[in-house]
Amino acid sequence: MRLLEAIIDANHRALTGDERAGLNPAEFADSLPIIALTCIDPRLNPLMPEVLGIPESQFIWLRNAGNIITGPLSSMMRSVALACAVKSGREIVIIGHTDCLVCKMSMVDLLERLKTLGVNRTRLPENLTEYFGLFASERQNVLTAVEFVRSSPLIGPRIPVHGLLVNTESGRLEWLVDGYQALETASSAHTSVSLEPGATSLDALKQMLPFNLGEMKFPEAKIGELATKAEGIMGRVEHVATRAEHLAGRVGEFAEKVGHLADKATDWLNEVQVHARKAEPPLTKPPALKPQPPKAQPPKPISVPPPIQLPPRPPRVGKPSATLGPANK
Ligand SMILES: [Zn+2]
Repeated sequence: MRLLEAIIDANHRALTGDERAGLNPAEFADSLPIIALTCIDPRLNPLMPEVLGIPESQFIWLRNAGNIITGPLSSMMRSVALACAVKSGREIVIIGHTDCLVCKMSMVDLLERLKTLGVNRTRLPENLTEYFGLFASERQNVLTAVEFVRSSPLIGPRIPVHGLLVNTESGRLEWLVDGYQALETASSAHTSVSLEPGATSLDALKQMLPFNLGEMKFPEAKIGELATKAEGIMGRVEHVATRAEHLAGRVGEFAEKVGHLADKATDWLNEVQVHARKAEPPLTKPPALKPQPPKAQPPKPISVPPPIQLPPRPPRVGKPSATLGPANK
């Protein structure tokens, strides 16, 4: 019997009242320690690792809200990989649990709760469902996590990756993904690669890919999810509006700078024209815009500031007399 087989066997026997049911860790020294990813739910605290029958010293416990792996190179995968490489974890187990509140939480509810905590929606990432990894099925969530770990380039091909679901009330373990079987299937598919797609290798490939990620992402559609999508769209609209506002602000700044430069250019041109007028005979054509090096200037030409042209002042208008307006009645 291999480690997980022995764990499941002992767990099920203990639940039927077998007082002798248990695990002798010394028998499984080659498979320990194990790396377990569970949810942050405090109800799991008294269950782990007792429910598995292994000592705490052989239990590398990773946790996040919803025991979610978001991708083969995600931050959680970094920890799983280091648990293998640095802490010598031999097998990986993703352990979901029943009655998971992350599963029950809709995006609308989550945003409402974040709002009461003073979190501004416009400062959150655009795709919130993807970011928070909310899921609709505890089982499917474990399958997805196992698939990501199995396909991760950070995990060696000989490390079994299992999926379990623990009942938070009874402590019963359900074995969702048999990591040993996946390894055997993978190795046999690898050794029996044939150019003819025979039934055996096709079946093996199907077993290697027990589900289609795209199809299975949200298998249990909830009304809340539609609201979540609408919320997501609203969020994006808000985001675009914020960016447009920001751009408008920058355009304004730019226009101001251009105006300033234009003012300076005008001053400069006026100065050039004054120099030109003083240095050269009257021109029959408009002066060139390029500054010309002054030739044989008279001594100490005095730069005269250009006359300031003020816009015509509008005629002063007194407060209209009440008697001039049309009669109110
Ligand atoms: Zn949970």
